[in-house]
Amino acid sequence: MQSSSSSSLRGKTALVTGSTSGIGLGIARSLAAQGANIVFNGFGDAAAIAALQSEVASGFGVKTFYHGADMSKPEQIADMMQAAAREFGQVDILVNNAGIQHVANIEDFPVEKWDAIIAINLSSAFHTTRLALPAMKAANWGRIINIASAHGLVASAQKSAYVASKHGIVGLTKATALETATTGVTCNAICPGWVLTPLVQKQVDARAAAGGISNDEAKKDLLSEKQPSGEFVTPEQLGELAVFMCSAAANQVRGVAWNMDGGWVAQ
Ligand code: NAD
Repeated sequence: MQSSSSSSLRGKTALVTGSTSGIGLGIARSLAAQGANIVFNGFGDAAAIAALQSEVASGFGVKTFYHGADMSKPEQIADMMQAAAREFGQVDILVNNAGIQHVANIEDFPVEKWDAIIAINLSSAFHTTRLALPAMKAANWGRIINIASAHGLVASAQKSAYVASKHGIVGLTKATALETATTGVTCNAICPGWVLTPLVQKQVDARAAAGGISNDEAKKDLLSEKQPSGEFVTPEQLGELAVFMCSAAANQVRGVAWNMDGGWVAQ
């Protein structure tokens, strides 16, 4: 897996929140494939996470570290950022990816779910960003990549908290990009359409159960409603976009909310 030509990020450290699963894991793998050391974060079985860490470390010839900070807790986020800096010197690439979803009408939306979604999907990125920026600015190089969503650009019913958090992170992306515009630090957002991860599988399961239809039919329904390509976006494709955003070619890509969504927001 390791290739000598794929070493554009060798010596850099990437911290990817929510990287024990789905999109975050795909992005962590793509950055590791370019030689970046990886700080993993996210929930999961300790043995499975340790196995993941050593698989990425040996597969790509990089160093890995794990911190289990709960991204809804500012003090745990601060501890993770300090631990990452102790381990690797500093965080050069910050990918704010951890996120959760809850689906309900506004009048039925559990207040604690609203608070958790805003904390994990939005406020956590403010905390990691404010803590990562001083070292990035001092080094005059850094990349902050916020994983927003097509729901950062357009809305869907029953997803008020998610849509608000994702529109919010697009705004945070632009403000961060402006504050760093004259430096070697860039900040951009990636806005995926449907990606078949555990977060979306839950919605497929709910649709299959509600409609009395098969898993495959539920997937097809879900895609046909929003995503003209009729195909899921993959974590690997998103990982390659993140790699591009880390490249020198992207030095002047600042404050964009780049949709990779099978045509979702073109409609
Ligand atoms: P996922 O459920 O597969 O992964 C979520 C990750 O976040 C996991 O590693 C989980 O442990 C971690 N996490 C959740 N709560 C956490 C917390 N409190 N503290 C620390 N880690 C926490 O989901 P995914 O689909 O890979 O989603 C990743 C990001 O991509 C999210 O921000 C999501 O909103 C966004 N996104 C997903 C899709 C999609 O279709 N799957 C589309 C657009 C955007």
